[in-house]
Amino acid sequence: MKKINAEQILWRPNKKSSVPLYQQIFQFVCNNVSRGQWPVGTKLPSQRSLSKLFEVNRSTITTAIEELTSYGIISGKSGAGTEVISNTWSLFLPTTTDWNKFIATGFFHENNNIIQEINRLEFEPDLIRLGTGEIDPSLFPQEMWQKVLNRLGTKVMSLGYLEPLGLLELREALADHLNAEGLNVDADNILITSGSLQALQLISAALLQRGSTVYTEAPSYLKSLQLFQSMGMELSGIPMDNEGIQYWKLPRVTNKFNNILYTIPTNQNPTGITMSMERRRSLLDFCIENRLPIIEDGAYQELCYDDGQPKTLKSWDKNDMVIYLGTASKTLAPGLRIGWIVASKPIVQRLGDVKMQMDYGASSVSQWVLTEFMNSGLYDEYLEELIRKLRNRRDRAVRSLSKYMSDIATWNVPTGGFYIWLTFKSKIKIEQFFEQAVKEKVLLNPGDIYDFKHSRSLRLSFAYITEDEFERSIKKLRRIYDK
Ligand code: PMP
Repeated sequence: MKKINAEQILWRPNKKSSVPLYQQIFQFVCNNVSRGQWPVGTKLPSQRSLSKLFEVNRSTITTAIEELTSYGIISGKSGAGTEVISNTWSLFLPTTTDWNKFIATGFFHENNNIIQEINRLEFEPDLIRLGTGEIDPSLFPQEMWQKVLNRLGTKVMSLGYLEPLGLLELREALADHLNAEGLNVDADNILITSGSLQALQLISAALLQRGSTVYTEAPSYLKSLQLFQSMGMELSGIPMDNEGIQYWKLPRVTNKFNNILYTIPTNQNPTGITMSMERRRSLLDFCIENRLPIIEDGAYQELCYDDGQPKTLKSWDKNDMVIYLGTASKTLAPGLRIGWIVASKPIVQRLGDVKMQMDYGASSVSQWVLTEFMNSGLYDEYLEELIRKLRNRRDRAVRSLSKYMSDIATWNVPTGGFYIWLTFKSKIKIEQFFEQAVKEKVLLNPGDIYDFKHSRSLRLSFAYITEDEFERSIKKLRRIYDK
């Protein structure tokens, strides 16, 4: 059952407004309930802590609570026991279908509280997003975008459904691009997806089964998703060192249940670690020996700032062991919702068939846009510039950390991607730290989201905010830490 602590509530009533305070509080609770943020069963903070939090008289809170009770939204009990018992939406329905029962029984797990809160707070205008896995909107290639759209305006004659594997022109452009990076694929080895997140959904729906174990780095981006667990699969976190996953620590692998290994070898999310060449080779050998297929997530493969791109596992894969995932989200634009799966033809066909059942294809507009970006050479030109800018941001970020954090935390210096994994030297109450930071207008991604155990780390991203914003927020974090 969800419990809301007073510190988690960032909203405050507006004392200058002509709307009475109790009504503002009433509306605030209704909004949270009807948006599903406080589902039925959620326990609210006590009246005493609410009056302290909102800096209003206890009687104002009592009036708001009475009003909410009379609408049947919360239980009438006072004190810490007050809880949400219904939502306004179902009250207004002519027949009272118990939708809450439906909501509680759907097989997809809900995101954990902090992730839900981050997803909401990312759209609050004045918060600095210190952990966001996205490039800064100010780096968006506006002029190139205009050129691409102008050309497409005359080129694209219709926007019908596309063939199951996706737009042929895009698959051909991607095959050229990937072959230049050392893979050996043709357009029939590629399936276009609606982002790599969908690629993971397709794999779990079509290739895995209830009881399958997905081995992955600990920590991992995958841990932040409920996807595999919702489908009845186990996630098993395997420790890393600075060369990547320590695959020899895997429990004895049997492949009774279609187990699989998921890895982000290049610029891993969230640690920023890039797997060494030696580790890549020996991991592949280990997986071949144990018949353990690999999902290689190459989301950050193109974003290497120091030594060029390392070879992908897929480029060494002579045994069709590896399913490679790519995406346009981390370089160009997540809003395109375009990703790709590279695998053997039977796998691509099977996943393509499932995709047709799910959404009948990714957006054809987005597929044309990416094709034009690639074929015109604008994508490569843009990427070169992006890498230069992100390298500068990385360098400044590391300098800011050295200035403010070196006595209290450790971190890695990533050779690419977006992330720096910062670990505090001593124990820290990360949830409180998160809430404190939000109050100071800094939004964090706590390590717990990604790790398999309690974490004293933060995923910092230097990609979404400017060098100065990064430095200012690190300075604020230091102040909060010292309080
Ligand atoms: N894989 C990794 C490693 C990621 O970091 C992300 C985005 N955070 C994704 C996949 C999902 O990306 P997409 O927008 O393509 O669904």
